[in-house]
Amino acid sequence: MENIVVLGGCGTVGSLMARILAKKAKVTISDTCNETPLSKVFEAENIKLDLGSHNFKLIREADSIAVAPSLLENEEILKLIKGKKIITVEDILASFRVGKPVVGVTGTNGKTTTTNILKNILKVAGYKVPEHYLNIQGNTEFIPALQARLEGDIAVVEIGTFGRPGEIKRAAEDSEVKIAIITNISRDHLPPREFPNYIECKKEILDVAQHIILNADDPIVASFAENLPREKITFYGIETLESNFEIFPEERECPYCNRPLKYKKRFLGHLGDYHCTCGYKRPKPDIKAIHVKENSYTIKIGSKKAKINPKIKGLFNVYNSLAAASAATILGIKPEHIIKGIESFQGTEGRYEIIKEKPRIIIDYAHNPAGVKAILQLVKKDTKGKIIIINTISSESGMEGDKEIAEILSNADLIIPASYQARKASKHIKSETIHIKSSKEKIKQGTLGASQKQVKEAIQKGLEHADKNDTLLIIGEGGYRYAKKIFT
Ligand code: ZN
Repeated sequence: MENIVVLGGCGTVGSLMARILAKKAKVTISDTCNETPLSKVFEAENIKLDLGSHNFKLIREADSIAVAPSLLENEEILKLIKGKKIITVEDILASFRVGKPVVGVTGTNGKTTTTNILKNILKVAGYKVPEHYLNIQGNTEFIPALQARLEGDIAVVEIGTFGRPGEIKRAAEDSEVKIAIITNISRDHLPPREFPNYIECKKEILDVAQHIILNADDPIVASFAENLPREKITFYGIETLESNFEIFPEERECPYCNRPLKYKKRFLGHLGDYHCTCGYKRPKPDIKAIHVKENSYTIKIGSKKAKINPKIKGLFNVYNSLAAASAATILGIKPEHIIKGIESFQGTEGRYEIIKEKPRIIIDYAHNPAGVKAILQLVKKDTKGKIIIINTISSESGMEGDKEIAEILSNADLIIPASYQARKASKHIKSETIHIKSSKEKIKQGTLGASQKQVKEAIQKGLEHADKNDTLLIIGEGGYRYAKKIFT
């Protein structure tokens, strides 16, 4: 058996490279890190660990050296492996087949939860699903393609974009996506002038997949079916609500003639039953939810109808479940397994995660206006007392996004801005706002807008104002990362 040392195996891409190579070789990870949260996974897959520093003897004795892409430009590393046979991530993609059906999930919001519900359905039906076990938000280049090559029967991968053309197409091709899900597309994610480009990026997955699953209630997503044969498409959507949900209406232009769309029904933001004077209208969904209430709904898959009592609440989770049910149906999973898979799904970490009661404290990864609307719609249905929001967001679309979020937050009772950007945008909040001292500090690393100190001060302030029936909702990546640490 070939003896391979993987340099950088503690990293996200490196860990997946090691796990794929271990299918055919004796693999040892060499990394300067001292420990990895994946040690149990590596042990189960017969991967040895050599951590703390790069072991020269180990490298010299190996048949070849696999190098994580982040280390390929490191001169020290290149010196260390001089003369050895090198395996890159591209080599792995070229030499290992995917060999299984792959579902790719893309869209602005709901990717992770849709992915996780579908995986749960597949597990209920008895399939093994490849897991990357990485604590990453969304997706990084190479992750879906590597994940699809791990051991398993059917793969479900998240495919995201940083807005660069060609990115989604390449990720979908490298992952050999057969079935694509597009959950929803929100304008707010990016500056308005970049919106058409963002739509085009998401559309790239259509060129790769053999079957496309589209949200019928999203006018832009549904329009992607244009010029595609009907049998290649599955539409999903909500038909009827039987409870009053806060809608947070949002206007949309017709994707064909640019006139404002008219809505017969609205469910959440721009999602609903729309039509246009030019003739464009919401397509009839193949898989749908009817009689949607706070805690239950009826799902219709073809002629099969079943009542669902999910553990995860919220209208946005009805959409995520319908998307997963659609893909499962195309994969030939029986409706009984789909229903059981949806009902037994426990939720995704950091998504409407209740970390404490009396007062209830919830963390949610919402980080754009559409995400904030979705979570606020649920919290408003699910709380008896006041809603206090700790906003740790620093919007990806800059001050415009922060301003839009501030306006939506006016639907809560009390707002505590916990990031510099949230503080700056707070003049657009119409409800009571309390500031913390530390939010004057500017913290911004990628999408992370708040520090642990800011989150902590904001939570303390929130607790001072909360009664036992109130809900403290912490939104954004800062809350997701730090709030649980603060309580343990
Ligand atoms: Zn039109």
